[in-house]
Amino acid sequence: MEVTAWRCTHVAAVSWRKFSRRQLSISASKADRYSRQLEFPGGLVKVSIKRARRKTLAIHVLSACRVEMRVPLKCPWQEIDQFLESRHGWIENASESLASAPVVPELRYHDGAKHPYLGESIPLMLVRGRPMLTEFIQGRLVVRCSDPSDEAKVAAQIDQWYRRQAHLLFPELIEACRTRFPMALSYRGLVVRKMKSRWGSCSKQGEICLNSLLIRSPLQAIEFVIAHELCHLQHFSHNVAFYRLLTAIMPDWREREGLLMRG
Ligand SMILES: [Zn+2]
Repeated sequence: MEVTAWRCTHVAAVSWRKFSRRQLSISASKADRYSRQLEFPGGLVKVSIKRARRKTLAIHVLSACRVEMRVPLKCPWQEIDQFLESRHGWIENASESLASAPVVPELRYHDGAKHPYLGESIPLMLVRGRPMLTEFIQGRLVVRCSDPSDEAKVAAQIDQWYRRQAHLLFPELIEACRTRFPMALSYRGLVVRKMKSRWGSCSKQGEICLNSLLIRSPLQAIEFVIAHELCHLQHFSHNVAFYRLLTAIMPDWREREGLLMRG
């Protein structure tokens, strides 16, 4: 089973034959078989169900009030509801923590607009010309392209640049962070991806995925997310042992968490 929470994967998946049967307490709309509503103290959460060619049931907590469930094509409705019910508490925790998830700032793409990079605010310099180029030069992020008035193209170039910087920096930080651990970690590699709802995730196979937009946050905050995900290699869920390890290798993690770029 794969379960992580917080700004991690927010995915619960399990072979649909393996979970225990329990009583249901989920309201299902008769008008729409593919949606459910879960009631938590914090409010209602809407669950949409998507059938697909797959072997497992998975729950994706997309936002504080929106959940998607992906299920095998022929999985019976009763089993879908039972699985949803069995993950009730987990969904509550994940959706609560997503309420404080990163907010990607609204950025503008005109000349002089400020863009975050490693916690600093960097002004854009747009230049018309070829070949295309995105580079940090003398305190400015220079973007050269054939049509600098095309915000979508400028944004795509900047995204690529963020990703390149992330690919250069993150492996280095991971290696440095690994040396803080008292035990050998079963780290299998890094994936960098632009994500909307989480900073990082960790798979049971030992692969760590980091949000390329983390490169906007201060170094200490990036190190915190890396430490958090590396701790998952030892303790997969957010239990007491997980936080004990995180505190041991990074005593100031709470302050660092507060530095994450929230827009
Ligand atoms: Zn986590």
